[in-house]
Amino acid sequence: MITEYEVGDEKVFLLRRIIEVRIKKNVYERLRRRLSKEEIIQFSEEKRVLHHTTKRDLYYITRESGIPLLGHAAFGLIDRGTNLIQVRPITGCNLNCIFCSVDEGRKSRTKANDFIVDPDYLVEQFRKVAEFKGKGVEAHIDGQAEPFLYPYLPELVRGLKEVRETEVVSIQTNGTLLSESLIDQLEGSLDRINLSVSSLNPERAEKIYGVRYPVEKVRRIAEYIADSRIDLLIAPVWLPGINDEDIREIIEFALDIGAGKRWPPLGIQKYIPYKGGRKVKRVISFKFFYEKLRELEREYGVKLVLSPKDFGIEKRRRYPSKIRKGEVYSAKIVVDGRGFGEKIAVVGDRVVTVLTDRDVGEHVRFRIVRAKDGIYLGEEV
Ligand code: SF4
Repeated sequence: MITEYEVGDEKVFLLRRIIEVRIKKNVYERLRRRLSKEEIIQFSEEKRVLHHTTKRDLYYITRESGIPLLGHAAFGLIDRGTNLIQVRPITGCNLNCIFCSVDEGRKSRTKANDFIVDPDYLVEQFRKVAEFKGKGVEAHIDGQAEPFLYPYLPELVRGLKEVRETEVVSIQTNGTLLSESLIDQLEGSLDRINLSVSSLNPERAEKIYGVRYPVEKVRRIAEYIADSRIDLLIAPVWLPGINDEDIREIIEFALDIGAGKRWPPLGIQKYIPYKGGRKVKRVISFKFFYEKLRELEREYGVKLVLSPKDFGIEKRRRYPSKIRKGEVYSAKIVVDGRGFGEKIAVVGDRVVTVLTDRDVGEHVRFRIVRAKDGIYLGEEV
């Protein structure tokens, strides 16, 4: 699964349609005399590795890298104290939604680097957390990303499903990269797809997603999922003043195609402006939002006001960590961070994002300024 081509003075190898390895043509020609293509890709020190979609530097996280998978919001695992464990295998997105809470996509102004995690390492670490949580765990694949960009998705889903404590494997997607054959491969190990479609109108969809959006393809694939053994939940983001009329059309579409066999068919989300995310002008109150959902519930006879209970989510003890807000640590920087001015350091079995100008390999002293949901942020002191 290697495609090769040239761009300017660089030789480019594209691995699994997402990992772009770039080497200067003259360096490549020199190395080619002694090494095979595969050896050059693997061992050359003079290469750049990019995320093919976002064109940002891409870091591949393996067990051997020594980088833990707990502690970061963008990659690895997130345990928010329930029986649901978020699994984040890759960063980067093929869309540029105007409401994106994590400012993803090629037009992002805040993201400096991307990450991809080895599937075996991810499943191994998931198993550790799931064993701690006990029976009835949901593995929910999501991210600051479109998870279907992950080239090892079928392997990952199967691996997560095989963990004894896993009851449900679910995934979040914008639907644009799905195919019927991919759905066939996932059937039997994937339990639910949360499809975030916020408009079925081509012009409005393009405005909302910031790129040309394949409405017809997403419609077709939604129908295909609804007919498969995988459950389908359609999850539009309601953007008042922008897609009001689409919400009704999406409800009717979800009901028509038979979404939601085991779980509710629709999960309408309220637009919430997040710090660091992209913003739209009109924001409504939660009160108004739930009033509207209740009106639509009465009109369509479908449950729209949802709670974690509807998905079997309950509180569970968090996987233990010794790191506390306010504490000061000294640790080695192991890799660049996700955002500009961020680096990643390792403290025990966690990663901490540290705001510092120091380089990878240096030690840094920092104070933990955020420690919510097992995601750590430190400031250099
Ligand atoms: S699909 Fe999700 S991650 Fe991608 S730009 Fe839209 S909101 Fe952001």
